[in-house]
Amino acid sequence: MERINVGVLGATGMVGQRYIKLLENHPWFKVTYVAASPRSAGKLYPEAVKNRWLIGADIPDDVKNLTVQDANEPKLALGKCRFVFSALEMGKDEIKALEAAYAAEGIPVVSNASANRWTEDVPMLIPEINYSHLDVIAEQKKHHGWDKGFVAVKPNCSLQTYMIPIFALIKAGYPVKRMTVTTLQAVSGAGYPGVSSFDMIDNIVPFIGGEEEKTEKECLKILGTVQNGKIENASEPVVSATCTRVPVIDGHTASVNLEFDLPEDKKPSIEQILKVWEEFTSLPQELKLPSAPEHPIVYREEENRPQPRRDRDTEKGMACVIGRLRKCSVFDVKFVALSHNTKRGAALGGILNAELLKAKGFFD
Ligand code: NAP
Repeated sequence: MERINVGVLGATGMVGQRYIKLLENHPWFKVTYVAASPRSAGKLYPEAVKNRWLIGADIPDDVKNLTVQDANEPKLALGKCRFVFSALEMGKDEIKALEAAYAAEGIPVVSNASANRWTEDVPMLIPEINYSHLDVIAEQKKHHGWDKGFVAVKPNCSLQTYMIPIFALIKAGYPVKRMTVTTLQAVSGAGYPGVSSFDMIDNIVPFIGGEEEKTEKECLKILGTVQNGKIENASEPVVSATCTRVPVIDGHTASVNLEFDLPEDKKPSIEQILKVWEEFTSLPQELKLPSAPEHPIVYREEENRPQPRRDRDTEKGMACVIGRLRKCSVFDVKFVALSHNTKRGAALGGILNAELLKAKGFFD
């Protein structure tokens, strides 16, 4: 199969570099266009990331001879790539306008930014959960008068650690009414150079701007349904979140407590929950998408797992690794969840979204 030419906006940043590395030998996509800020524009890619290439391997040959373009100029991408991954870090309004400008030029945008997550006709995808939200893209195109272009986004990185296990339970007939979540988020989640070493070494920072609001709201859109060309949010679970930054390089951990919306005698036992998680698979596995994990949920029996350093690369960094499932004396059950924030939570999750879009004919 001929590989599709793709672009990476924000190619010089933390997530952009992950895209470049992960797409190196991708069977469907080939990076032919890179763009970033005017500070990097005009430089060859290796020069633009000199002294700040953060991925533990060489820069792929594919991109060594690419000149970084100004991401603020969508027309420069015309004819160079079929669609773009967006990993830009700019003001929300600027990103929203820019993603629309690419779509208007006929270039679909698969985005990691939060700017369009609340746009009603923009799907916020976790392919194992809400692939049916792709249905709003037709409405989005009609609404804007776009022919080939559209925008699809990913949710916040920390949600990826626990949303698939929670969705698996809801799908199995165990709706969740309320939950609390405390995240322990890695420093790579703040981009590069990110949080100062003075703040991070020997320390925990109990605040990440905007993160608790995203954690409490985004799950309702992810679990929503498509109605009349828009995504109608779900009404539960009600979420209370505390988000912290911890001295870990990669891998967001979350401590989650759940209350089921069921009478006492219908609530699942620990054994029933483990069975649901063990058996869960979804469309990406059925379609055998190249970046789909064979097992989206991996349960660790050891009492001291999951741990970021040991478990973040499970299933190529695409698994939700869960452990410590037990009864909760305030809610019903509690567990600890982990996923790789720049892989499942960012670049590889974005690539999985693009694979789903391609498999469903959105780039034809
Ligand atoms: P980052 O390391 O700060 O990289 C930002 C990128 O945006 C760089 O390529 C930068 O180019 C470019 N950029 C900055 N200002 C620009 C401008 N005015 N015009 C054009 N390009 C500009 O950030 P990141 O952590 O990779 O995050 C990228 C996006 O992914 C953000 O929206 C973030 O919220 C989201 N995200 C991140 C994570 C994570 O784990 N890090 C997870 C999920 C989602 P220069 O190098 O030229 O400055």
